[in-house]
Amino acid sequence: MMPRKIAGQVRLEDLERICPILSRRNHPEFEGKRQLEVEIAGVRFGAGVPVVIAGPCAVESEQQTMKLARSVRAAGADMLRGGAYKPRTSPHDFQGMGLDGLKILRAASQETGLPLVTEVMDVRLVELVAEYADMLQIGSRNMQNYPLLVEVGRSGKPVLLKRGMAASLCEWLGAAEYIANEGNLKIVLCERGIKTHAGSEYSRYLLDLNVIQAVHEETFLPILVDPSHATGVAAAVESASRAAIEFGSDGLIIEVSNYGVEAGVPRPLCDADQAISPAILRRIIAFIRNREGASEAEGAMVSADEAEPN
Ligand code: PEP
Ligand code: MN
Repeated sequence: MMPRKIAGQVRLEDLERICPILSRRNHPEFEGKRQLEVEIAGVRFGAGVPVVIAGPCAVESEQQTMKLARSVRAAGADMLRGGAYKPRTSPHDFQGMGLDGLKILRAASQETGLPLVTEVMDVRLVELVAEYADMLQIGSRNMQNYPLLVEVGRSGKPVLLKRGMAASLCEWLGAAEYIANEGNLKIVLCERGIKTHAGSEYSRYLLDLNVIQAVHEETFLPILVDPSHATGVAAAVESASRAAIEFGSDGLIIEVSNYGVEAGVPRPLCDADQAISPAILRRIIAFIRNREGASEAEGAMVSADEAEPN
């Protein structure tokens, strides 16, 4: 029996129609395993060597952010993360430091030389956040905020597009197409765990490792994995990171804290349970670097600046 087609439902076979710009099938220049290379201040996504982004969930103070930026740099991270505008379940929870947070992040990025990715949640703030960040993050909750996607597309800044927690691959790539449609191909995808019927009995979300290969088959965009939000449990982050790399992820974005490591560091206000120490981060990065020696980077790359959006 033929599978029933439900009106409005999108399937992988619709991908060439939904994503003519980003569908791998429409681009002979990305034949085989060739990928788009997205470069940010010397950090190259999709170039065959996994990229590691690390930092706090949220900027909570200048001291916390500066110290942590130095720690993640010393551990070998390639880029700094941290939220100044936080999407929180309750409006009564810490919402982020806003502009002050952006300034702190910029200073931390400048001091360490680590390019910065930070989230923008509001169309009205795209221009401002783009002044401070090297890469704009679209969070899971905003993956289908189409006006926001158009605006970050127009900004011309590299974009880290996290997967909506209930989004199919088609919906996710459709969201990426909105950015690409503005002539901006500097897009890096990020799997950050999805909601399933299993709920959150034992983990915050379900890490969909299979989607890494599917992304590589259907498009030429690089994909990262966020093991922190995907598991919600610090003890699971290292093994989830290793698994993601084994499944072919082009990198990781990880939440780190010095809480419990350095005296006087307060417990993070946001996502404390999933933050790993800089020492564990160092171990994850060592795993990646040791593995690199063993495997050869495959295929030539095409840079985002060279590739034609249409
Ligand atoms: C984050 O990375 O800070 C974040 C809020 O992640 P997500 O949008 O995936 O929940
Ligand atoms: Mn977080």
